[in-house]
Amino acid sequence: MNNRVHQGHFARKRFGQNFLNDQYIIESIVSAIHPQRDQALVEIGPGLGALTEPVGERLDSLTVVELDRDLAARLQTHPFLGPKLTIFQQDAMKFDFAALAEERGQPLRVFGNLPYNISTPLMFHLFSYTGSIKDMHFMLQKEVVNRLVAGPGSKAYGRLSVMAQYYCQIIPVLEVPPESFTPAPKVDSAVVRLVPYTEPQHPVSDVRLLSRITTEAFGKRRKTLRNSLNHMVAAGALEELSIDPTLRAENVSVAQYCQLANWLAKHQDEAQE
Ligand code: SAM
Repeated sequence: MNNRVHQGHFARKRFGQNFLNDQYIIESIVSAIHPQRDQALVEIGPGLGALTEPVGERLDSLTVVELDRDLAARLQTHPFLGPKLTIFQQDAMKFDFAALAEERGQPLRVFGNLPYNISTPLMFHLFSYTGSIKDMHFMLQKEVVNRLVAGPGSKAYGRLSVMAQYYCQIIPVLEVPPESFTPAPKVDSAVVRLVPYTEPQHPVSDVRLLSRITTEAFGKRRKTLRNSLNHMVAAGALEELSIDPTLRAENVSVAQYCQLANWLAKHQDEAQE
């Protein structure tokens, strides 16, 4: 049998299609999500409905965002799910989650077995909507989950760790082996829960500056902060903030990156005054 065909559908590599086939894993994910009838759930990439069916059974309505036209059409005619579904046949990277939360009158619960080829940019897109999101449950490459939860001093610690931990509390839920999918991916997978903070732990006045600082610092991982940030942060600023200028990006905490972003915000304003 061709291992790229699942339930009569030929899996499209360009859409990152690896369909869940393992009932135990599917049930574990659904119980981690714990959907309640009155909540506004949104699935990214429902595919052939492995998660959509058991989640949809527990709800009166469910929104899904699926890029593949054939799969969206299949869901539309699904015997019991079809009438409950609101299907957006579009790119989740361009989806306006705030508009949907507004329409539903409550923050969204987003979930999905994400297409791995776009999972990191997709999470960055979702971080810009954390004010409209109650929680997220995602299947990701295990390596990406390791990066999400990594702390300073670890090899996996990087820009994704800092930005994700700025926005969300992150809880790994479950590890998933390749055989649980058809076709089997070449990597191990894991499910993670991300819960946006209602009050940020380390408030920053302009999150774009946090994004810029982490891009600069981790873009020159091997350099000390004094060198990697020299065109953004004045020499004395690191001492002023009690941040050791000889640290490398991977040894700087989320709280320290937030301090640096706030320093930059303040001094940019001063420069403009
Ligand atoms: N949920 C199904 C499952 O668990 O078996 C399918 C998961 S599969 C890993 C990823 C799904 O995301 C596919 O259905 C794919 O067509 C869809 N997809 C890929 N890129 C997408 C995008 N940019 N926006 C929305 N859906 C996308």
